Amino acid sequence: MRDLKTPQEPIGWDGKTLKAMLTESEDLFTETGRYGGIRELKIKASDPILYEKIFSKMRGGLVNARETAMNVSASPIVKEIGELCFALYTPEGDSIALSTGIIVHVHTMSDAIKYMIRQDFEENPGIAPGDIYINNDPLVGDVHNGDVQTLVPIFWEREIIGWAGGVTHVIDVGALTPGSVPVGPTHRFEDGIDCPVLKCGARDTLFRDHELRCEKATRTPMFWKLDERARIAGCHMIRRTVEDIINEVGIETYKGFIREVIEEGRRSFLNRMKEMTIPGRYRAPAFTEYSFSAETRLPRRARVDKLMHGPLEITIHGDGTFELSFEGADAWGWHSMNCTPSAMQGAIWVLLSQTVIPNDKVNDGAYLATRNNFPLGSWTNPGVSTVSTGISWFFLIPGFTGLFRSLGRAFQARGYIEEVLAGYGLTANCFQGGGIDQFNRESATTNFELSCVGTGAGIVRDGLDFASAMWNPEGDMGDVEVWELIEPFLYLGRRIKPNTAGPGKFRGGSGFESLRMCWNTPYYELQNINVGKVFASAGIFGGYPNSAGYRRNLHQTNILERVKDQLPYPVRDGDPADSEILRLVNGQRVMSDKLTTTLPELFEEGDLYLSVLNGGTGAGDPIEREPGRIEDDLNGNYLMPQYAESIYGAFVEEHNGRYGVDPVKTRERRQTIREKRRKESVPVREWMVSEREKIQSGAFIKPIRAMYRSSMATSERWAREFRDFWNLADDFEMGE
Ligand code: MN
Repeated sequence: MRDLKTPQEPIGWDGKTLKAMLTESEDLFTETGRYGGIRELKIKASDPILYEKIFSKMRGGLVNARETAMNVSASPIVKEIGELCFALYTPEGDSIALSTGIIVHVHTMSDAIKYMIRQDFEENPGIAPGDIYINNDPLVGDVHNGDVQTLVPIFWEREIIGWAGGVTHVIDVGALTPGSVPVGPTHRFEDGIDCPVLKCGARDTLFRDHELRCEKATRTPMFWKLDERARIAGCHMIRRTVEDIINEVGIETYKGFIREVIEEGRRSFLNRMKEMTIPGRYRAPAFTEYSFSAETRLPRRARVDKLMHGPLEITIHGDGTFELSFEGADAWGWHSMNCTPSAMQGAIWVLLSQTVIPNDKVNDGAYLATRNNFPLGSWTNPGVSTVSTGISWFFLIPGFTGLFRSLGRAFQARGYIEEVLAGYGLTANCFQGGGIDQFNRESATTNFELSCVGTGAGIVRDGLDFASAMWNPEGDMGDVEVWELIEPFLYLGRRIKPNTAGPGKFRGGSGFESLRMCWNTPYYELQNINVGKVFASAGIFGGYPNSAGYRRNLHQTNILERVKDQLPYPVRDGDPADSEILRLVNGQRVMSDKLTTTLPELFEEGDLYLSVLNGGTGAGDPIEREPGRIEDDLNGNYLMPQYAESIYGAFVEEHNGRYGVDPVKTRERRQTIREKRRKESVPVREWMVSEREKIQSGAFIKPIRAMYRSSMATSERWAREFRDFWNLADDFEMGE
């Protein structure tokens, strides 16, 4: 029988407290450089089959917990998209193994457990068998507070032997603006439900006060409650798996195994880096933007137009260790896009497990083999407890595109050309908002079809079309019928969106577009969340970025009359310069060209909302793309013919609605393009002279000057490098 009595003695191993165990583990690592100070992997060496069996059983248990828990939840984000993840930890909070899904959280939950230990939770509120904890605080250990975690301690005969953790991305977080990734909060107090690791249950039962409090704190209490039950169910399944394993192999073997497997994770990460990369320093900055200067409903301090600077740099050492730095990132701000170190860690993990260690045992071993630098005061590490982080992904995703490009270069240099990936698309547009739904209930939504953007191109193949999100490689767009169940907006169409893919010898994966019609609601407010002025990711080896987004919202339309008269209605926008929507529907466009906004826009029956999902970036020079591939792109509606000529230098012919590309005439056209490029190009030396003049006179628009000023103020080292590179005076500052 499981004993749920509160322990009177320390719960750690051999009579120690958890805090003592954590300190000891950290000291051992500092002293030896090896997890748990382990020199030999004894179980692995003496009984390799048993060792692999234990890991497989754990991993199987975790995946099984995820698959089962998915069906406890009712939220389409969890049930359809699979936006959840489970993991198993050591008593000290180091991750041993994890399920599939949003693996970004392998380390965030580790941070949350370590926080509990450091804050003496063992003493008060006490950690006992049957306890349930909840966390969604990115300063404690999370990406943003839409990701809600459940943590359950696992005991064996009065000793804590680990933690089960589960995360789901909830559909509404009770923030200032509706949805789960609110754009609108300017500090933490507007971010919504705040659970900085709270004990929310005991004896395997949720506290009633916790449940009632949460019911009142979200616009979608039913989804919240079922999500929480899904996480608890998964955690309890993991606990059962662990108990089964211990019954089979004995507690001593279990204790030895969880140490060894993390040390093995560390070693295999180093081996993989040594095997697949060339050591060196790789730099790949990225930028993103928002325009809030005209948002009069925001506090004055928040009304700015901003360009975010993500100067990602990785250093791979000869021994396989890996350093990641954002030195030079600009300052945090009064917006909800700030990130915490835990969020940054999360992003590293979700990307390394898709690139360097997709086949290895993914756990905190890899974390122990890496170092990072998130400068204090920057958007990567604000160091301010009141900072808002509601939509941290808006900076995090572009900021980390450079990791794919940097690793891509390192793989290419070593000859692993099949592994190269250009940057993924920003997972946007985000259809998000709230109001009264078709059942006359208060409701909110974040439409997670954004989990399917195009992936980056490789250098031996195109990117995958509408495939996944960088934060959930197993993402799904969900059936339109399911979204229509919870959103009072009908899908008029969901189609391939031409020209969203970044062009290249190999193009990025394509995005798609969804056209929605507001239906059966007295009112609903929505946001459009994407970039519109800058490219959030660059291509690689001459490939181009994917397209930026645009907005097409139409109000007071005549579409309902057209439907009544049985006239054609639009199912997509297609070519924005020759919009199918504007050709068929009259209506009012109230919005400016701004793409990101804090203010939800009011929608009424018959209004139209277009959501364009991004593509991935390209690899290699577009004028090297095979004519056959361009033909396929044209006939599949991935590419508009005019761009086949201007970007790809293709000679396009049309016969009976089918496109063909003439290889001979294409070769000639490309020769002309090459000659034109040669004529127009200038030596870098000359270009640098003219660019230096621009920098010295500050001949940039205000947000760019502000970005440089901020980066230079946040990092002395970066400012020095910038001045050295451009040969500027030691006291050079970018003008206001
Ligand atoms: Mn999330």
